[in-house]
Amino acid sequence: RRISTSELEEELVPLANVLNQTFQRLQLSFEQLTQFTADASHELRTPLAVIQSRTELALLQPRTPEQYQETLRTCLQSAERMHGLVEALLLLARGDARQLPSDTTEVDLRDVAGEACAQLQTKAEAAGLKLLLENPDFAVNVTGNAGLLEQIAGNLICNGIQHTPPGGTVRVVVDNPLAPRLQVIDSGCGIAPEHQTRIFDRFYRIDESRGRQNGGNGLGLAFCQSLAILHQAVIECQSEQGHGSQFTVSFPAPVRPLAGTN
Ligand code: ADP
Repeated sequence: RRISTSELEEELVPLANVLNQTFQRLQLSFEQLTQFTADASHELRTPLAVIQSRTELALLQPRTPEQYQETLRTCLQSAERMHGLVEALLLLARGDARQLPSDTTEVDLRDVAGEACAQLQTKAEAAGLKLLLENPDFAVNVTGNAGLLEQIAGNLICNGIQHTPPGGTVRVVVDNPLAPRLQVIDSGCGIAPEHQTRIFDRFYRIDESRGRQNGGNGLGLAFCQSLAILHQAVIECQSEQGHGSQFTVSFPAPVRPLAGTN
């Protein structure tokens, strides 16, 4: 309930307004938490149901070794899916608590981009795409955790690969016009304006069923954002439907120590 200000004495109205705003923020937090728990449960329920139903079916009568193997393969896939989800949830929770591994150093973004590209080159080739790396001649240093920064780059590149048809390109650009910056630019399907504000929300998928088929859990960008915040960086998306997307991670200049580290 909110405090009705219509019958209050005039000097109490500002106080009532401040309290009402606080109640509003509290309500929003509760709603987000409830939604998050519901989404997380829903995501875990699907692979669990697959494991349960496939195992029950297999146990109904004796099966051939091939049939048992097929059942085990399906169960393994579901277990891997749950494992990925639980890992992502744990990492997000760590991000919320502003906890970073203690090994933070000066990291050259060119190394981060280079490592992520090297790891995903085969995936890009298999999808019929060119994965291009554009690094400047000078070092572009940020303070951070190399592994986590590579996860941001890797997630963005993976998304680019997934949403770009064969023959397209995914470019990874590191530069430092005013402050250190890493960009992943694809020539893919693009993102409609109404989705652009929501894609960083946890569990948000544009095409629910296709995303799920591709193994997406709608946590990739939320995770990237959480990691970016830990590095005091900002992650933004510019996109035009049908003409590709550009994700930019901008780091602060001058570089400051990380939030949550000593
Ligand atoms: P997921 O892990 O399921 O891919 P993400 O959080 O990474 O989820 O992305 C959320 C949604 O944003 C995806 O469902 C996808 O439709 C959309 N998206 C992300 N990156 C791109 C991109 N480069 N091009 C087009 N759509 C994208």
